[in-house]
Amino acid sequence: MHELSLCESIARAVTREAGGRRVSSVRLRIGALRQVVPDTLVYCWSITSRGPVLDGSVLEIDYVPAAVECRDCGTLSELSRFTLSCSGCGGTAVTVVSGEEMLIVSIDVAEAPEASAIPPA
Ligand SMILES: [Zn+2]
Repeated sequence: MHELSLCESIARAVTREAGGRRVSSVRLRIGALRQVVPDTLVYCWSITSRGPVLDGSVLEIDYVPAAVECRDCGTLSELSRFTLSCSGCGGTAVTVVSGEEMLIVSIDVAEAPEASAIPPA
């Protein structure tokens, strides 16, 4: 399962980035052309996100639809199916303009506990 290895690499990157702080949520942006199933990714995250840093963290996914721009007529088409063609002229001379995203947008870390006051001597 491609989503599981993806979660493992996200977990490694987030853990490194968190620097020992507890992570509450991780926001990802994933393009439709990556052929990642968001629900499966969230499920895999629940398996992968173990340990003091990631335990209980939530994966939030921004799903970016795939879009192409036609090199012949300039029409920008959003792809509903996996067909790389122009909705304006039907041509296939298209450039992918979105849908290939795969990045960690942000990581929220839980607030550090307040330092306890030092009692007066
Ligand atoms: Zn076209």
